[in-house]
Amino acid sequence: MKKHNFSAGPCILPQEVFKEASQAVLNFNDSGLSILEISHRSKDFVDVMEEARSLALELLGLEGKGYKVLFLQGGASTQFLMAAYNLLQSKAGYINTGSWSDKAIKEAKIFGEVIEVASSKDANYNYIPKGYDVPEGLDYLHCTSNNTIFGTQIKDFPTTSAPLVCDMSSDIFSRQLDFSKFSLIYAGAQKNMGPAGTTLVVIKEDILGKIERQIPSMLDYQVHISKSSMFNTPPVFAVYTSMLTLRWLKKLGGIAAIEEQNDKKAKLIYSEIELNPLFKGFAAKEDRSMMNATFSLVDEDLKETFDAMWKEAGISGVNGHRSVGGYRASMYNAMTMESVAALVDVMSDLERKA
Ligand code: PLP
Repeated sequence: MKKHNFSAGPCILPQEVFKEASQAVLNFNDSGLSILEISHRSKDFVDVMEEARSLALELLGLEGKGYKVLFLQGGASTQFLMAAYNLLQSKAGYINTGSWSDKAIKEAKIFGEVIEVASSKDANYNYIPKGYDVPEGLDYLHCTSNNTIFGTQIKDFPTTSAPLVCDMSSDIFSRQLDFSKFSLIYAGAQKNMGPAGTTLVVIKEDILGKIERQIPSMLDYQVHISKSSMFNTPPVFAVYTSMLTLRWLKKLGGIAAIEEQNDKKAKLIYSEIELNPLFKGFAAKEDRSMMNATFSLVDEDLKETFDAMWKEAGISGVNGHRSVGGYRASMYNAMTMESVAALVDVMSDLERKA
């Protein structure tokens, strides 16, 4: 039986993408060769890379607006330092909304002054800070759109005259935004796109080339742009699978269509968390994430029973992150309504039994 997988990753993809990707490992495009063994310089793979890049731009509504798309390696964690390496000349602002923002701040401090413009660390990151002033004269302002661990999501992005940089690792392609507000978007592929091993970088070219330091080639966005993401051997399987997921998303109707589904899934689980007296949510109501719902039992004595019930129902990956505890239901793009309903059924069964 296929499980209802609520894991935060890696990596939750549609079944048809898993199927097509596995077929390509055996026989890519009827070539008699595996996607893993063809040359990354061959026309077949260059076409894959081109299609992945153009689908990303198209789905984000950024075609013809001066953006370049890269598929790099090293995960979003490398982007924490790469963004600063390429953009931080004197000072940058950071909105600290969780452990991932905190890690990004730590890396940026190596390169210059970092101003923590706002933070929700005081409440174990259970809300998104609001009403803060963004100082003038920043090289850029960095935020994290969705806080995977804590289950909060930025709904209104900060206004600033500085380039806006955003880590969208856990909610890229899940909701409609005016993506042209951002000068740099990065996202590890492994939630909504493909296997771990590649990171999507969408960058407005005109913000580059403004800092004085020398940048090692592998960490220089301009080098990767000039080599069309082929400066070194690209992670071919991760890029190919990401391309398949983007094709799937386009066929479905793009971000608008998936957002409608994501909204329904989120409403279903959050209404259960609210109405069922046995559970309480972790995140502030107005800041709740559509991707990761964090909640816990009001009475920990019910844990053993609840855990046995969801396991019995074929549910997996629902345990909370150690820094929050309780439960976390991750509902990325590929998660079906049927799976969310299965979890909600178990939660309401518990209420009936208790
Ligand atoms: N940023 C966010 C929001 C994440 O959720 C994660 C991983 O889950 C990361 C960054 C780190 O990504 P990576 O493991 O690709 O370095």
